[in-house]
Amino acid sequence: EQKRALYGQSMHHIDFSAQLPRSERPSVTCVLPAYNEAGSLRHLIPELTEYLKKFSDQIELLVVDDGSRDDTLAVVSAMLDHYPVTLLQLSRNFGKEAALSAGLDHADGDVVLLMDSDGQHPFEVVDQFFHHWHEGWDMVFGVHENRSDESRAKRYLTKLFYSLLSRSAEIEMQPDAGDFRLLDRRVVLALRRLPERSRMMKGLYSWVGFSSKAVPFQPIGRITGSSHFGLSKLSALALTGFTSFSNAPLRMWMLIGAATSVLSVLYALIIVIRTLIFGSDIPGWPSIAAGIAFLGGMQLFSVGILGEYIARIFSEVKARPLYLVSNEISFRKQRRPEQQ
Ligand code: UDP
Ligand code: MG
Repeated sequence: EQKRALYGQSMHHIDFSAQLPRSERPSVTCVLPAYNEAGSLRHLIPELTEYLKKFSDQIELLVVDDGSRDDTLAVVSAMLDHYPVTLLQLSRNFGKEAALSAGLDHADGDVVLLMDSDGQHPFEVVDQFFHHWHEGWDMVFGVHENRSDESRAKRYLTKLFYSLLSRSAEIEMQPDAGDFRLLDRRVVLALRRLPERSRMMKGLYSWVGFSSKAVPFQPIGRITGSSHFGLSKLSALALTGFTSFSNAPLRMWMLIGAATSVLSVLYALIIVIRTLIFGSDIPGWPSIAAGIAFLGGMQLFSVGILGEYIARIFSEVKARPLYLVSNEISFRKQRRPEQQ
C-alpha cells in the first residue's frame, strides 16, 4: 500500500525521486510475448514458474498472445488452473513491439521481467538481473556476447545500423542488447507514458533513461519452431528505429542540396566564362544528361526519405491504439470464486 502511494497511480504524477528500499522478495510480472509458441510455452511456463520462486512469492506470468494461429491459446488457457498465468489475447497479430507494450501496460509487479517465449533466454541470467536490481539498478538487460550464431550478412548489417544510428541519434542505444530485460516499476511507468505508434522498444528503453546495467549472455536454441524475424521484418524495424530516433536523414539532404547548389553555381560561372572566351560550343550533351540523371535520382531519394517521415507523422496523427485486447483471463480472477 505504501508503495502504491509513493509510486502514484496517475501516470502523470510519478514521483521519480521516491527511492524505496528494495523489497527482499518483490512481486514479479514476467511478460512473455507469444506468436505461435504453443510448443515452447508448454515447457517454458512450468519451468519458469518454478525458477522464479527463487526470487519472489508473488509471481505472474503475463502471456501476450499476439494473434497466434496455432494452439497457443488452448495450451495457455489449460495452464491457468495450475500456474500463475494471465493470458492477454490481442485481437490480431500486432507484432512484437506492440505485444511488449501491451504487456507493460498490464504488468503490475514491483519488477517486470521481459522474456521471449521461445525459450531462447537462459534462466541463469535472471539471477544476475535480480542481483543487480537489488543493488539499486533500475533496468538490467541482456547483451548478446557474440553473434556467432547469426549469419555474417546479418551481423554486418546490424553493425552498420548501430554505427550509423549512434552517430546521428540523440540517444545512445546499446548495440547487441535486446528485449531480455528486468525493469523496475518506475521504468515501466515511464515507458507507459510514451504514446508513439511507430515503436522500436529498444530505442524507448534508452530514451527513458534511469540507471541501467548490461549483463552479457548467449541466447540458446529455440525450444521449437523458427524465428519470426527475417530480413524484411528486421529492416522495417531498423527503419522505424532510424526515423524515430534520428533526424539525420532529413538534415543530410539539406547539406547535399546546399553543396550541389554551390557546385552548380560554380559550374555555371565556368560555362559563362568559357563561352565568353571560346564562343559557344554545341557538344556537351553527355554532361547535361549525366547531370539531369544524377539530380533526378537524388531528388527521388530525398522525396522518399521525406515520405518515410510523413508516413510516421500520419500514423501518429491517426492516433489509433497500439494494440487491441480481445480477451483477458487471469489466474487471479479464476481463483477468486473458490476463495470466497
Ligand atoms: N513475437 C511476437 N509477435 C510477432 C513476432 C514474434 O510476439 O509478431 C514473439 C515471439 O513469439 C517470441 C519473441 O517475440 O517470443 C521473439 O521472436 P523470435 O524468436 O521469432 O525472434 P528472434 O528470437 O529470432 O529475434
Ligand atoms: Mg527467438
